Amino acid sequence: KIYHDEDTDITIVQSKVVSFIGYGNQGRAQALNLRDSGVNNIVIGNIDDDYAKQAREDGFSPVSIEEAARQGDILMLLIPDEDQQTVWNEKIRGNIKPNSTLVVASGYNVAFNLLTIPDDMDVVMVAPRMIGAGVRDRYVQHIPYPCFVSVEKDPSGTALATCLSIASAIGATRGNGAVGSSCREEAGIDLFAEQALWPEIMAIFREGFNVLREAGFSEEAILFDMYLSKEPAEIFERAADEGFVKQLKYHSRTSQYGQLSTMNRHDGKDIREKFHHILHDNILSGKFAEKWSNTKWAAEELAKEWKEVENAPIVQADERVRDVIKPDRKK
Ligand code: NDP
Repeated sequence: KIYHDEDTDITIVQSKVVSFIGYGNQGRAQALNLRDSGVNNIVIGNIDDDYAKQAREDGFSPVSIEEAARQGDILMLLIPDEDQQTVWNEKIRGNIKPNSTLVVASGYNVAFNLLTIPDDMDVVMVAPRMIGAGVRDRYVQHIPYPCFVSVEKDPSGTALATCLSIASAIGATRGNGAVGSSCREEAGIDLFAEQALWPEIMAIFREGFNVLREAGFSEEAILFDMYLSKEPAEIFERAADEGFVKQLKYHSRTSQYGQLSTMNRHDGKDIREKFHHILHDNILSGKFAEKWSNTKWAAEELAKEWKEVENAPIVQADERVRDVIKPDRKK
């Protein structure tokens, strides 16, 4: 289901107190968009630091997160996903106004039941597929942008109307409209891209480099051909604009034949089995979310992975080639 401006009633959000928990990438952009859409009762909850300073410069009067939770009919939970559970338990949960609405911009914490939600609270997702600066710039320039919306809990019976009202006020139902989804779907696809799709693509580039290097080709030539030329970025841009396969028409006939004949014979069985395992056993089972909630473990594991990747031949070659093409880059 796609929702357009005409499906929405902006007066719903205009009549509420909207509290922002967090004034970072998404928080700032969405708060400014709401204000410009005629939402006058906006409360910013943040500790007194640079984010709060930014909020003051933008004309808001930030309060503590606890106070923002107490005042809000609508709570926009816009702090990093990995911090949401702790902040929810320590600062928000005990201060929530009765019959209020929780709005998340990513499905993760709701999909994996990491937040204990009061029975009378509506829960909706308004998840722009865009960085905060893009959400703000496009709103100002009246350009549509993609966004997922969903209703996750609806004790009031009016959660969809509230959700669409917020989406409309941040500019997410313009043009092609906002896409009906769910926290499970949004988080599932997002984590799948992070844990299956992109690692496979990175490993393919790594192995491509290794095979070409073993054949005696120079690392400069390999890396320029693989990505330093920015050709992959251009290919993906054409794929988004004109079609995943149709973009091949911009390649030579030799290239078209090479790509199609190999891809059409690739049965993908091994990759499919691996992807299936990652999606079902690791992501949708909640196993990953449970592990990742242990913030100490998560920080240590991430640091270990960074250390390990430093030794990969493609990473070391990347550094050497950059030293040659941009000798001043470390000064
Ligand atoms: P940011 O990293 O920009 O958030 C920074 C804000 O979070 C600041 O106000 C900061 O305040 C606050 N914050 C950080 N840590 C804590 C903490 N431990 N306790 C209290 N407040 C904290 O987040 P984003 O805007 O990137 O992400 C917010 C949500 O939007 C997430 O759910 C994310 O998945 C989603 N999203 C993000 C997109 C993006 O492109 N960035 C795109 C679409 C969705 P302070 O440090 O002062 O406490």
